[in-house]
Amino acid sequence: MEENLGKNIPKKVAIVTGSSRGIGSEIVKTLSKNGYIVVLNYNKSNNLAEEIENNFANVYSLQADVSKYDEVKQLIDYAYNKFGHIDLLINNAGIDLVKTINDTTIEDFDNILKTNLYSAFYTCKEVSNYMINQKSGHIINISSIWGITGASCEMAYSVSKAGLDAMTKSLAKELGPSNIRVNSIAPGIINTEMNSFLSDSEMEELCKEIPVARVGTTSEVASCVLFLENNPYITGQILQVNGGWNI
Ligand code: NAP
Repeated sequence: MEENLGKNIPKKVAIVTGSSRGIGSEIVKTLSKNGYIVVLNYNKSNNLAEEIENNFANVYSLQADVSKYDEVKQLIDYAYNKFGHIDLLINNAGIDLVKTINDTTIEDFDNILKTNLYSAFYTCKEVSNYMINQKSGHIINISSIWGITGASCEMAYSVSKAGLDAMTKSLAKELGPSNIRVNSIAPGIINTEMNSFLSDSEMEELCKEIPVARVGTTSEVASCVLFLENNPYITGQILQVNGGWNI
């Protein structure tokens, strides 16, 4: 079990969707090390989820397919009923699709929107009930550079991420008076399985377009969560973490 560095601080409760691997798992580990109780949500990777749960303090894993409203409701209710409050929700679960518009089927589009965007609507709808009653909370949506710039052959994905950023701005206005903040973190290219379809030479070409000339790390995204958590006057913002790829 890793040492809980924040054990003297009153524990905040966080839910991180899609956090069995990649960016989400790094966020879970960072929050655990900083004294949070963390509900780690996963869909298929139960072994990875279990490994994190066993090695990091105050991590509780729960399977739920966040593209399904009933399963999201169970996830949020589980966290609230177990801990009595929810302080931080991170909508991280996401899938990618690289296809031309002509090849994108109705099912593809539905699947991407359900997993990346409807999921956040479901979690925000459920968690806001509790956060409004508490009169406190913070929601962070993990969007993407493609939601801002649009990506060729990734229209469905780009639409889903632009939708997340619009959700961030709308809910920041709506929920601000209840002392609930809503922000987005929009990564550029980060070294996770999501990009494993790119060959080494394709990766090299991409890096030539990035001012700092490299891909980002999951910990460079996870540290933004703590930054936003520690700055209570920041809300409705899209924090870009992309090595200068979109200047
Ligand atoms: P990843 O390594 O592919 O991991 C995706 C995670 O999402 C997994 O833990 C997976 O869990 C979970 N997930 C997928 N569908 C789910 C569902 N229906 N219900 C619950 N969990 C689900 O991806 P990543 O690179 O860490 O990406 C994390 C987020 O960052 C995504 O929203 C992605 O769009 C965004 N992002 C990534 C990059 C990048 O370059 N990597 C750039 C910009 C934005 P299971 O394995 O258990 O199914």
